[in-house]
Amino acid sequence: MTNSEGGRIVVAIDGPAGSGKSSVSRAAARVLGFSYQDTGAAYRGFALYCLQHGTDLSDAVTVAAALKDFEYEIGIDPDDYWVHVGGVDVTAEIREPWVSAAVSSVARIPEVRQYMVDLFRSIIETSFWPGILVEGRDITTVVAPDASVRILLTASEQVRIGRRSAELTGESAESTARQLSSRDAQDSKVVDFLNAADGVTTLDSTDLDFDQTVAAVVALVRKADTKHT
Ligand code: C5P
Repeated sequence: MTNSEGGRIVVAIDGPAGSGKSSVSRAAARVLGFSYQDTGAAYRGFALYCLQHGTDLSDAVTVAAALKDFEYEIGIDPDDYWVHVGGVDVTAEIREPWVSAAVSSVARIPEVRQYMVDLFRSIIETSFWPGILVEGRDITTVVAPDASVRILLTASEQVRIGRRSAELTGESAESTARQLSSRDAQDSKVVDFLNAADGVTTLDSTDLDFDQTVAAVVALVRKADTKHT
């Protein structure tokens, strides 16, 4: 499957916390035979790195300086997902609530965002799969505005909180709701991922189950590919 230029297909998916972006994107990539890049993992990995090094997250200059020694790697095979920071596997640790609570503080810093955008683009460039599905907050608008397919995956806040609570065992529904709303509020000051930009298709998964959402993403990609060939 190639796009009009005979190159790889880039599929960009943005959406708020708990929209199911990560699991839906990974499953859709598997169906399509594409690689998959979770961009939130890099922001999470960098937040973890700063927390481990006692970096003052309120000081943008100090945080930006910490990028210098940040070593990051991610697996882009949807069947072999892993995240390494400084050569250590942090795949599970970056999902912990104390990291989620810190991540918006690093993601708001322009130098950090520029570093990440460059990193994400280089991973897209060096993926030798027929296509790559990239998910995050600013993929449709900043990282890959020319992607063959651009999707904003949404769901009502109530449904998002329910899905996130099911993922996080041991967290109360109220605490999940508080964390999710506060992270979205902070993140949306930096990037608008709640409204679709021009040319971006909104996929509202409020009334869809997981398999239906994956099928809808796959259908959008196949439809775009048919137009190109
Ligand atoms: O998608 P996930 O919830 O793992 O993202 C973690 C955090 O990383 C977000 O809350 C946001 O602060 C940041 N992020 C971002 N831009 C992206 C992906 C994630 O700012 N493209």
